[in-house]
Amino acid sequence: MKNVLQINEIYSRYDTYSEKSLSGRIIKVENIMPLLKGFSAKHLFEVKVIGNSVKGKPVHSIKFGNGKTKVLMWTQMHGDEPTATKAVFDLLNFLSAADDFENLRKTISKNLTVQIIPMLNPDGAEIFTRENALNIDINRDAKRLQSPEAKILWDIREKFNPDFGFNLHDQNNRYSAGKTFKSAVISMLAPPYNKKKTVDKTRKKAMQIIVDIRRELKKFVPGHIARYNDDFEPRAFGDNFMRRGTSTILIESGGWKDDDDKEFVRKINFLAFITALTSIASKNYKETRFKEYYRIPENEKILFDVLLRNLIRKINGCEHIVDIGINRTEQVDEKGRIFYKGTIGDLGDLSTFFGYEEYDLEGFEIKKAEYYSEKFKNIENIEIKKVDQELQDGKIIILVNEKIPRDRPFELPFLVINENDNYDNLIKTDCPAFFSLYKDNKNHYSVVNGFFRDNYVTSSQKTYGIVLKL
Ligand SMILES: [Zn+2]
Repeated sequence: MKNVLQINEIYSRYDTYSEKSLSGRIIKVENIMPLLKGFSAKHLFEVKVIGNSVKGKPVHSIKFGNGKTKVLMWTQMHGDEPTATKAVFDLLNFLSAADDFENLRKTISKNLTVQIIPMLNPDGAEIFTRENALNIDINRDAKRLQSPEAKILWDIREKFNPDFGFNLHDQNNRYSAGKTFKSAVISMLAPPYNKKKTVDKTRKKAMQIIVDIRRELKKFVPGHIARYNDDFEPRAFGDNFMRRGTSTILIESGGWKDDDDKEFVRKINFLAFITALTSIASKNYKETRFKEYYRIPENEKILFDVLLRNLIRKINGCEHIVDIGINRTEQVDEKGRIFYKGTIGDLGDLSTFFGYEEYDLEGFEIKKAEYYSEKFKNIENIEIKKVDQELQDGKIIILVNEKIPRDRPFELPFLVINENDNYDNLIKTDCPAFFSLYKDNKNHYSVVNGFFRDNYVTSSQKTYGIVLKL
């Protein structure tokens, strides 16, 4: 495959293909429509509306190539999983470029007909939810076909009858590749079509493609590629497509340190697509040993966003040592912007877990967050003194009179709640991550909404508080 693929060169030239108008975690149908219009004007591509969502938004398809082998790719079946949508537009830019990789493009266009559905769930994408406007998970509707989006996908498979399918998702950032600290930047699966997980010729091909993808990608992200759980799910598309004879590959875009917007993960996706299409077009996968698939480490959920190790906790005069794992979950505010809500994910001996950020806090004692001395009328009234002694004393909870409409981010490092709300301020699993860390009775650090904060180095710290409706 080396001769046609030139993966290192493509990697280093990625910037010329990446679609700059798509970025961040929220991608809506209005963001991709102008791009599709642009591609429809190019003779290499055929763009069509193949149906409408529950709310009447268009679902598009774009076709490339005129080869015998057919490939179907679909993205954003879950509205809050847009990484592959960004990456397929990078792929389309690559396919329509004119540069040194002409051989590769020709190999693809001569041997393959590639049909892409770049956003199957535009209603979910609009409000950043997994489900569609019927509150149905489309990937659990492959049998019953009650949602129009599921029907669109099923009908396309029946009509186009693809040899290969790419089911493109995002997974939680907190998976690692095997029992290691290495985040699973992508996890792949050749879904089984029965409980026995039989490997027939259709599934075997999917496994071979996955092995090929891993072999190429591990040059860039060694140890960060995982295999997704292969329990049979009779209601999912991958499992059913496999049964119908389409070799289906599930790709889950995972996490990468300091890549909240998943732009690096997107690049890895793009390279996975290029590798897979090349392997299929050149039939190189036929030489690949499918059993290598089982040697890919499994997706493990042993990562936290922040892991604090070796803290002292005192309860009823007794001292013990705890580790605390913190998760920051993506939320959308009233203006449709992403913010994070930090909660305690687990507490106890977490020595078998890892964190994107880790702090060894031996000798530090964890204590409940304290209340700020002053009460405020409303959120807009909150004024914090320039050098804030109270903040350094661990007073990170603020009470306000006004009714709080709903959760939202807050630019100061505090938790803001209504004075009548009953906030327990507990340090336990599933509770909001707000607490303070002391040494020699002096507060050194605080955890504010899941963000670790040094109270003596306040400048340039990424800390976001939250207004919390309890
Ligand atoms: Zn998904």
